[in-house]
Amino acid sequence: MTAITTRNYRLGEFHSFQGADRRFLYLVPAGAVFELDSAAEKLIERLSQGEASHQQLMAELVESGFSYADADELIGELHGSHVIVSGDTVLEPLANPPADFPLQSLVMNLTNQCNLSCTYCYEFGEDKVATPEGKPKFMDIETAKASVDFLLSQSANRKSVHITFFGGETLMNFPLLKSVVTYATEKATEQGRHIDFSLTTNATLLTPAIVEFLSENRIGVTVSMDGPPDLQDKLRVFSNGRGSYDIIEPRVRHLIANHRTRPITARVTLTAQVTDVLRIYRHLKHDLGFHEVGFAPVTTSTDRSYSINAKGMDSVIDQFQKLAEEWLEFALRGEMHGFSNVSDTISEIIQGVNKSHPCGAGLGLMGVGPSGDIAPCHRFVDSDTHSLGNIATGIDREKQNDFLTRGHINSKYDCQTCWARPLCAGGCHHEAYVRYGDTGHPNLHYCDWIRDWTDTCLRIYGAVSAKNPTFLEVFAERKALN
Ligand code: SF4
Ligand code: SF4
Repeated sequence: MTAITTRNYRLGEFHSFQGADRRFLYLVPAGAVFELDSAAEKLIERLSQGEASHQQLMAELVESGFSYADADELIGELHGSHVIVSGDTVLEPLANPPADFPLQSLVMNLTNQCNLSCTYCYEFGEDKVATPEGKPKFMDIETAKASVDFLLSQSANRKSVHITFFGGETLMNFPLLKSVVTYATEKATEQGRHIDFSLTTNATLLTPAIVEFLSENRIGVTVSMDGPPDLQDKLRVFSNGRGSYDIIEPRVRHLIANHRTRPITARVTLTAQVTDVLRIYRHLKHDLGFHEVGFAPVTTSTDRSYSINAKGMDSVIDQFQKLAEEWLEFALRGEMHGFSNVSDTISEIIQGVNKSHPCGAGLGLMGVGPSGDIAPCHRFVDSDTHSLGNIATGIDREKQNDFLTRGHINSKYDCQTCWARPLCAGGCHHEAYVRYGDTGHPNLHYCDWIRDWTDTCLRIYGAVSAKNPTFLEVFAERKALN
């Protein structure tokens, strides 16, 4: 081991940013935020001009007024947290999660049928990966029960697990949803465990009775919806081309007014035709009353008519920035804002997330289709190419391992020098497959936007931690972050 006094120091890998009037570093190998005081800032400034030995640094710090002990402590602290590194600094690469990583969430696609024909749908549209031919259209009770048993047996000692109901249109199989809630709750309770539920729906089939059931059972609801009538009806249409806004608007209002046990979220798909983020947010949050609104650009190959081009994405990011500023203003006043794209990233920053994989797909999260086929997540359900086994026969560990190895950040050459990798890790596997034909390919078409957006959220985090740290505590508690 190198003696401390002969060490040569250089800067570690970090992204520096300002929040309010303070300076912070985002430490990439750890995915952690480090606030700089003026002494640390001075030392970093010095090392940005070139390497220096321990003795050199000590001499320069002492000369600028530090006591010997303070200078030594400062160097030790920055070295220990890898803000500065030396030849003997060992940074372990992110390991592969264990093969038997316990399941946390199961997405159950209760049906692959839908009563809408949204042009951009990843399940039925031009870029679909599903191969549902010859498979059941609706999940039956045996497959559903076996799926619940699978979740409980594959989640090892987790005290709490989660089921998301999905489709097609989930509510086309509402009787099964009800049975699953009863069965899964009974089974989890027998084992002294907790299970909670959520669903995604297009809201066309919501009725007062369904809303009452969802509220009584604390089932979280996400409504896929693209905004006010002129935007919703562009691509979210019935098979005869008729728009769906008129049908869902009263149902959504009823849902929000009567489902009192969980926040109701809207999830917007942005397309070339639908990029008015601010107008959409105002409508969904203020006119309709959703608690949270999240946006995602459509997943598609570039030549589709609804694919957003670079100019469209720039406009989207501009509007995201405006909502992000609002989010910050709210947080400084101690109020929650409903723009979930910021809330989600802030949650990950608070947790110090450092991802080996972009999401839980194929790891703590799996999807199961009506046939019982297991997929890495809901978007791959019913795809023979991406199947990871079947509920009846279990997980195909070889296929799972191949999926996870390709998706691991260490396999993504282009990401190795990117400071945003602890939070991005290459981006959605499904998006990567649609764009590049490989679930393990990094989503390089989004890098600049991802880094811009991550920097924005870091600055918000820094500003709130400097000016209203209590808000972050309340926020973490509300989001049940650990
Ligand atoms: S996909 Fe791009 S932004 Fe994401 S980690 Fe890789 S290089 Fe960075
Ligand atoms: S692969 Fe994509 S769609 Fe599936 S869970 Fe991950 S981020 Fe979500």
